[in-house]
Amino acid sequence: MHRVIQWSGGIGSWASAEIVVRRYPNDAITLLFADVLIEDEDLYRFNDEASARLGIPITRVCDGRKPFELFWQQHFLGNARLAPCSKVLKQKPCRAWLKQNADPRDTVLYVGLEATEQRRIPGVVGGWKPWHVEFPLMRHPLLSKEDLLAWCRRVGLTPPRLYSSGFLHNNCAGLCVRGGHEHWRNLLRVFPDRFAWYERQEEDFRAVHGDFAILKETRNGQGRPLPLSELRRREEARGAVPVSTRRRLSGTALSRGRPLGVGATASRPAVRTSR
Ligand code: SF4
Repeated sequence: MHRVIQWSGGIGSWASAEIVVRRYPNDAITLLFADVLIEDEDLYRFNDEASARLGIPITRVCDGRKPFELFWQQHFLGNARLAPCSKVLKQKPCRAWLKQNADPRDTVLYVGLEATEQRRIPGVVGGWKPWHVEFPLMRHPLLSKEDLLAWCRRVGLTPPRLYSSGFLHNNCAGLCVRGGHEHWRNLLRVFPDRFAWYERQEEDFRAVHGDFAILKETRNGQGRPLPLSELRRREEARGAVPVSTRRRLSGTALSRGRPLGVGATASRPAVRTSR
């Protein structure tokens, strides 16, 4: 049997891989990773160290576009309700690889959803047909994210740094359009250059396409876009972050096109598959 772990660089997919490798030490196992080219540089460090421990190289696939490039091409800004980046930049390249390399008749996919994400199971199972999907962490419903991170440290690995910076997931360098208000407030506090980078791109998008935003808010019962620039202004007004964070950064990180530490290893070559 061929066992394919949907490897995100997050703690859930790592723990799933550990479970599968222990349970099926003699089977062919692939760690399938879709690179969206804006990952935190520490994700690649974790990928390298975790795959070395598992003894399985990462199999990297890549569409070649970053999320905002896709938003421009589709004239659609990803947001909490609809995020085409996930489907186009992650699922599609993985599916193309599976078609080439994994016969559904003798392949099992593994997705590292945690017990708190049970409601996502039907969508994931349906989305990966005709491949059969299993969720190793669902057999361990009492394992919290903290437990997974502690397990990771116990075996000698340093978990991806985004977790210790208040992020729930290690993807897209914290720039996930599915994140809510608190997620983006945290990004502004921890990585103001990354926030400013997306703020600028969102402003450019709005200048062409109109009043759309990654975030929404409800006022007087009406949903409306909440631009990142407005969220930053409010955070500055209440003293949560220094005023003019963005002005200070505009001559450095922004002018180089992307902040340091994001997609720093984007040009990495694909690595071998385990098969
Ligand atoms: S992590 Fe978020 S921003 Fe990145 S591809 Fe997935 S949905 Fe899009």
